[in-house]
Amino acid sequence: MKTYDRREFVRIAAASVVVAGMGARATAAFAQAAAKIKPSATDVLLVVDVQNCFVPGGTLPVKEGDAIIPLVNRIARSFQHVVLTQDWHPPGHGSFASTYPGKRPFETISLSSGTQVLWPDHCVQGTPDAELHKDLRITHAELIIRKGYRKFMDSYSAFYEADGKTPTGLVGYLRERGLTQVFLVGLATDYCVGWSAMDARKAGFTAFVIEDATRGIDTDGSLAKAWTDMLGAGVRRIQSSDLDV
Ligand SMILES: [Zn+2]
Repeated sequence: MKTYDRREFVRIAAASVVVAGMGARATAAFAQAAAKIKPSATDVLLVVDVQNCFVPGGTLPVKEGDAIIPLVNRIARSFQHVVLTQDWHPPGHGSFASTYPGKRPFETISLSSGTQVLWPDHCVQGTPDAELHKDLRITHAELIIRKGYRKFMDSYSAFYEADGKTPTGLVGYLRERGLTQVFLVGLATDYCVGWSAMDARKAGFTAFVIEDATRGIDTDGSLAKAWTDMLGAGVRRIQSSDLDV
């Protein structure tokens, strides 16, 4: 039987600790890599309202709205399925403050679909302001959902209009195509992205909002409220670094 003197035992034990430590670090690194989400054939990236109207220089600019575009392009390259949305209002739309004499943007009114925030005129059909941003590079996108085209019904959500029940058709489209997990990016976090994410949950889809690929308007605490509402609805809040893209 081989015996070790104390000094040798300490040396061997110390070496074992080093190996064990390296193993733990390697395991942690592996687990971290394995935990990253790799977009699959049943996942869809929903790129919400990345239009001229919602970036600096547009009619309803979201602060740093254009800063997300390179990241959105990079994420989109890893998704087989991408759907874009486009806010698309007729002139004199019911969400425009200018439609109501004496009303100003960011006041609210009551419409049959519920309380409506009034906005500056924005994303009017056929205008350059309503076009998708020229720096978007997602040529493989399979569908563009236009929304907000009914004169007196707005639609923040890509799934249901402002009454919460008039469908845009996106639920049926995703179901027919067998797409079950929706990843959201775009503008604005607290309105069209947030409402779309919650409606995705309502329709039975898994929903992830990739936070650093969104920007919010944040009027009167609307951004914090949107996150509370989204998380309450089971929406998952992730960063682009959580994705294997
Ligand atoms: Zn709008």
